[in-house]
Amino acid sequence: MTQYDVAIIGSGPGGYVAAIRCAQLGMKTAIIEKYSTLGGTCLNVGCIPSKALLDSSHHYEDAVKHFEDHGIEIPGEIKINLEKMIARKQAVVDQTCAGVKFLMDKNKIEVYEGIGSFKDATHINIKKNDGKTETIEAKNIIIATGSKPSNLPFIKLDKERVITSTEALKLKEIPKHLIVIGGGVIGLELGQVYKRLGAEVTVIEYMDRIIPGMDGALSKELLKVMKKQKVKFNLSHKVKSVEAKGKEVIVIAEDKKGEEITFKGDYCLVSVGRKPYTDGLNIEASGVKLEKNGTIAVNDHLQTNISNIYALGDVVRGAMLAHKAEEEGTFVAEILAGQKPHIDYNLIPGVVYTWPEVAAVGKTEEELTEAGVSYKVGQFPMRALGRARASMDLDGFVKILADKETDEVLGVHMIGARMADLIAEAVTAMEFRASAEDISRMSHAHPTFAEAVKEAALAATDNRALHV
Ligand SMILES: Cc1cc2nc3c(=O)[nH]c(=O)nc-3n(C[C@H](O)[C@H](O)[C@H](O)COP(=O)(O)OP(=O)(O)OC[C@H]3O[C@@H](n4cnc5c(N)ncnc54)[C@H](O)[C@@H]3O)c2cc1C
Repeated sequence: MTQYDVAIIGSGPGGYVAAIRCAQLGMKTAIIEKYSTLGGTCLNVGCIPSKALLDSSHHYEDAVKHFEDHGIEIPGEIKINLEKMIARKQAVVDQTCAGVKFLMDKNKIEVYEGIGSFKDATHINIKKNDGKTETIEAKNIIIATGSKPSNLPFIKLDKERVITSTEALKLKEIPKHLIVIGGGVIGLELGQVYKRLGAEVTVIEYMDRIIPGMDGALSKELLKVMKKQKVKFNLSHKVKSVEAKGKEVIVIAEDKKGEEITFKGDYCLVSVGRKPYTDGLNIEASGVKLEKNGTIAVNDHLQTNISNIYALGDVVRGAMLAHKAEEEGTFVAEILAGQKPHIDYNLIPGVVYTWPEVAAVGKTEEELTEAGVSYKVGQFPMRALGRARASMDLDGFVKILADKETDEVLGVHMIGARMADLIAEAVTAMEFRASAEDISRMSHAHPTFAEAVKEAALAATDNRALHV
């Protein structure tokens, strides 16, 4: 039986990063993945394919709606070749997954393809696709089995008409009318893809706002912009039934007044969140305990109740984000090596890759109010930036929340072009506990979208933004 210092179950961004860091630190490492490609949800059916389709559909929308304004004329009709668009997305996915396999080989990490299940706390049975089972032994085991789409108990996902994000990434036709249940990140991103490609898109959300959990000002602005893009929203609506009849999907929801409203479309995307995935692990044999919500219970070191077994990523508490899983992968590897790593969960940024992009880090206004912290707000609109006018990306703003007494930046919330990349400045500033004044005194290249950060910081420091 082959023995390892560490064996990792699951090859998503949490698992594969843990494997690389363990190998870098000199541990004999194995990774077990049930699918034939590495990379988990993120690379196969999550972050990467969704961003590939967002990019393709954005190009199409630009060509149809904005090229003319730029003085670019395309003779004839601009058409979508959905099959090609999906094939390009798949090529990006395949290349990225192959990149992870390359990294495993480069770091001399043994890759096992098969379903990993606990024999006991130090042995894992790997059921391979050819039906054979191999058992390996490991001093330490990391569970990185991720998550799967959640569903509402009364919805039957036929995966043809009533679909999850996984199917939405490989549709064979553009829906005529896509009904999206859930106004969170995944529903809005994929809804926007198909809206740009020509579908009618209706979002039904249980809460009274979209992207719940993010700062309320971001929710309001994104709602406003997406309504301008002609996405229909039904907030405070409770879905009661979803039924597929041939090529039609009928969704019945109850509004705030208790009245039933019927929506008819040809596809329904159920995007009501994700749940931790531990099926098939035979977790009982390891002795590891789960929380009531199905996540694996861990302490501050991401260690389970069994001292040599750790868990990380979507399968444990916290934001279900690839970069959070990656940080935890490095963290556990360094803990195993006897180091003292640290993760500041307050500084894990959240991003929505719609256009305009939404990005945030730190505390929201709602959280500061609830905690009784006195804060000041500095906000700067994108439309006041030369760069935004040049590219015609005028929607959105940057908002900085700083402590009223000390001026320390407590939260940064932004919506606009390229915010997914710009949020890194806010994370860096907050990591070094910058004040709003610190940011306001840093030179920001002109003309850039980043100038909005400086201006918002000026507004927060002394209400002295320069360009409004
Ligand atoms: C449509 C969509 C878009 C997203 N976009 C973003 C984004 O833009 N940015 C972002 O940060 N996050 C995004 N996410 C979330 C992100 O994908 C997850 O947070 C991330 O993948 C979690 O990583 P993980 O390593 O914990 O688990 P996963 O990536 O889920 O990987 C777990 C792996 O474990 C394997 N596995 C499970 N059980 C076993 C077993 N018993 N034996 C062997 N293998 C097993 C699974 O097959 C899987 O490959 C998106 C998700 C979706 C669905």
